[in-house]
Amino acid sequence: MHLETKLPKVGTTIFTVMSQLAAEHGAVNLGQGFPDFPVPPRLVDELDAAMRAGHNQYAPMTGVPALRQAIAEKALRCYGAQVNADTEITVTSGATEAIFDAIHAVVRAGEEVIVLDPAYDCYEPAIDLAGATAVHVALDPQTFAVDWQKVRDAITPRTRMLMINSPHNPSGAMLGEDDLRELAAILQGTDIFLLSDEVYEHIVFDGRRHESILRYPELAARAFVISSFGKTYHCTGWKIGYAIAPPALSAEFRKVHQYNTFTSFSPAQYAFAAMIRDEPEHYEQLGAFYQAKRDRFREQLLATKLKPLPVPGGYFQLVDYSAVSDLPDTEFVKWLTIEHGVTAIPLSPFYETPPPGQRLARLCFAKNDATMDAAVARLLKL
Ligand code: PMP
Ligand code: GLN
Repeated sequence: MHLETKLPKVGTTIFTVMSQLAAEHGAVNLGQGFPDFPVPPRLVDELDAAMRAGHNQYAPMTGVPALRQAIAEKALRCYGAQVNADTEITVTSGATEAIFDAIHAVVRAGEEVIVLDPAYDCYEPAIDLAGATAVHVALDPQTFAVDWQKVRDAITPRTRMLMINSPHNPSGAMLGEDDLRELAAILQGTDIFLLSDEVYEHIVFDGRRHESILRYPELAARAFVISSFGKTYHCTGWKIGYAIAPPALSAEFRKVHQYNTFTSFSPAQYAFAAMIRDEPEHYEQLGAFYQAKRDRFREQLLATKLKPLPVPGGYFQLVDYSAVSDLPDTEFVKWLTIEHGVTAIPLSPFYETPPPGQRLARLCFAKNDATMDAAVARLLKL
């Protein structure tokens, strides 16, 4: 039987590759982004209570009403956005599902989707499976700022969607108010949808404000705003996320979601509803919680030959390793794992065309102090 792959560019993700290599070599794994500390105890209690209360069957296709209501209240509280819990919010199996559903809901074969490189790895395969083409626009290789003129230049009559991500994985860069004004001007009068990946929305530092698309009604009118509880509640393995979009867009989104997963793990939805409603301090204090980790890690890194870049948000620290090695990044991170016992993620897999000579690696600081101390003790020997 003849089999021709539909996804010729896809192999095993760099996150899996590096986590496996870390395990093989007993390295401290600061590669794949996941916390190594526990979830809030209250969340586990709520999950347990939900299961014992019998919430173990299919949730409604759009998500448990109490959770959609809690998300709507959070959107109002955090971003001043009036979001209808019944017609504009859909709970999904992680942000990954929401991204896939949004693309498939509105992008047709032969159309184009603009992505900003370095871009999170699940974007392009979903675009490819829709028969569309990802058009890559590079961010500034040092600051990871968007060059809006380049975005303007990339737009064609076939452009159906633009994808943004702030705080940004892998760089931590954040879009500012000026960026969103530029974006609004570019999209005005077009039929281009916006996908805003905001999974790190609560992990922002130094008093900066997360510019959610939900703050900008003109942009929100054409947007799928996507987030994930995996980041906010330290439970990347639970895979519950959501998409907020205007009713007409949500209706199309739900057509895909309905036959992709239909619903997501019910007990967790009850648990997140309780957490959002009863313990808003958790997401309100998340920035400060991670800022302390960022600052501590940065201070430690300054004693090594790795040069830490500024981190406005998210839980990744980029380091310039050019004082240590001239190897290309994928070779460097393998060498670092095997020879020095610390695992990082290279940036080149996030690019269509990696910037020549870029010598950056991504380290995750969503870790216990002891984990980072162990990594730093090894990095000091570089
Ligand atoms: N987008 C970005 C930028 C991410 O970093 C991640 C996960 N790390 C996702 C989407 C996927 O989120 P989830 O695990 O909820 O599917
Ligand atoms: N989002 C995580 C990261 O950027 C990885 C998720 C995955 O392994 N697919 O590290």
